[in-house]
Amino acid sequence: MTTQATDYLIIGAGAVGLAFADSLLDEDPDCHITFVDKHAKPGGHWNDAYSFVALHQPSAFYGVNSLAFTSEAIDTHGANAGLCALASGTEVLAYFEKVMNLRLLPSGRVAYHRLSEFKGRDESGTATIRGVLSGEEKRITVRRKLVDATFYQTSVPSTHTRAFAVDEDARICIPGDLPDLWKRPENIPEAFVILGGGKTAMDVAVWLTEAGVAPDRIHWVRPRDSWLNNRKYLQPGEDFLAATVESQMAHLEAFRVSQSGEEVFENLEKGGYMLRIDPEVTPEMYHYAVISEGEIAMLRRITQVIRKGRVTRVANGALHFGETVHPVPVPAGALHIDCTARAVPFSSADNAGPQFRGDTIVLQPVMVPLVTFSAALTAYIEAHFPDDATKNQLARAAELTDTPATFPYAFMMNLMNRGTWMQTPEIAAWLAKSRLDPTGPTVARMSAAGDPRLAALSGFRQAVMAAMPDVIRLGMAAKAIHETAASPAK
Ligand SMILES: Cc1cc2nc3c(=O)[nH]c(=O)nc-3n(C[C@H](O)[C@H](O)[C@H](O)COP(=O)(O)OP(=O)(O)OC[C@H]3O[C@@H](n4cnc5c(N)ncnc54)[C@H](O)[C@@H]3O)c2cc1C
Repeated sequence: MTTQATDYLIIGAGAVGLAFADSLLDEDPDCHITFVDKHAKPGGHWNDAYSFVALHQPSAFYGVNSLAFTSEAIDTHGANAGLCALASGTEVLAYFEKVMNLRLLPSGRVAYHRLSEFKGRDESGTATIRGVLSGEEKRITVRRKLVDATFYQTSVPSTHTRAFAVDEDARICIPGDLPDLWKRPENIPEAFVILGGGKTAMDVAVWLTEAGVAPDRIHWVRPRDSWLNNRKYLQPGEDFLAATVESQMAHLEAFRVSQSGEEVFENLEKGGYMLRIDPEVTPEMYHYAVISEGEIAMLRRITQVIRKGRVTRVANGALHFGETVHPVPVPAGALHIDCTARAVPFSSADNAGPQFRGDTIVLQPVMVPLVTFSAALTAYIEAHFPDDATKNQLARAAELTDTPATFPYAFMMNLMNRGTWMQTPEIAAWLAKSRLDPTGPTVARMSAAGDPRLAALSGFRQAVMAAMPDVIRLGMAAKAIHETAASPAK
């Protein structure tokens, strides 16, 4: 068995592991980094995505710090018109390949064991990895830290295990199968049944609608409806700063006047900052998804929505929802599309806790839901601050919350963390130049140029101070709900 040595062994070459490594290479010019990842290519779950997947946030602040996405143009047509173009899954994957092949490996300080699984680490700090195809085991001496970049346990339709039964004569597919339907015209179904209420299901509904499928041919099982961020208020750069600040001010005001997380969302909807598909249904889910008003208009055209909870069995012509609910008829021969994979954990996660744990770092969000920003900043903090207590104080792990009721917990953690960073001059300087920070570099550029549009920020700091007692009031109540909540339905 061969033995190699490294300073940091990162488990996972997905977005999070790559963002961490990219920043650490710059911030600690002496360190050596090794990746181990089961996938054949960098990019993690983006390797397994359906072909029409796209980032739902602007690519301007996604990925790694050192490399921008190539296309950040404004869309001129379609449901996203007027807003920054969304990077397709293919672009995201190509981007991460470029990060690995043109940036990390040529540094001479990075090793990458693809198609390899992390098997464990012994008491001396030596890790064992095993080639997925070769079966060959290697030992890696970890001089400094093991970095767990698998916390999010991303689950997507093509790799997850279904939690419901499917009868043999029922038709079911995953989103990635839809673009191939044209190859067998005789197999095109009369009806489609979308299973799941999350962003993947919304992508499928938009895709089918844009492909010309009449809304009355689509049935949609939505165990829970969702609040969604209006993409108009989450755009990067100088031209959109006023809208971003307006939305943040509206959030602060909503916290000031609301008695619960649910009420925060109702107040945000009044200003158009939060959207929902069905105005008659109160959403019970909030997973930070971002959507345009154009997409919402398309989704509203689908009116055959089944709200009976989670499907337990898919039969040809009927959907079952456990023992106590009557089966719901759907057209015989309908094609069911499984959009029930849970993406990332929105419940209180098993491995949650501090990020810095002696000889191990468990990468988690420090600014929800910006997972790559969080990993990059955590690398900066690892390189520049002395001990775990200080590092954990500067990079307090937050959690991805699941519902409107629990969102105030994440919002409180975000504000508290940002407050700490702004009082730490080195970190404030880093934020001002990190492309992963949605506003930092924009504000820095505008300040340097004396841009009058910066006036949008006047009063923002005072608004934060004024809202903070209410953010903490709702945030602590939400934390208690989050920590006792059962695993969510999608
Ligand atoms: C469809 C979709 C769209 C999304 N859009 C956005 C968005 O717009 N903005 C946003 O911020 N987030 C978005 N997300 C959230 C998304 O989870 C993150 O953006 C990010 O890609 C997650 O990266 P990751 O590195 O944490 O996980 P992964 O991509 O899952 O990478 C983890 C890697 O670890 C490897 N691994 C796990 N265990 C082992 C082991 N024992 N040994 C070796 N390797 C192992 C896996 O093979 C995998 O490659 C989206 C998620 C989905 C599913």
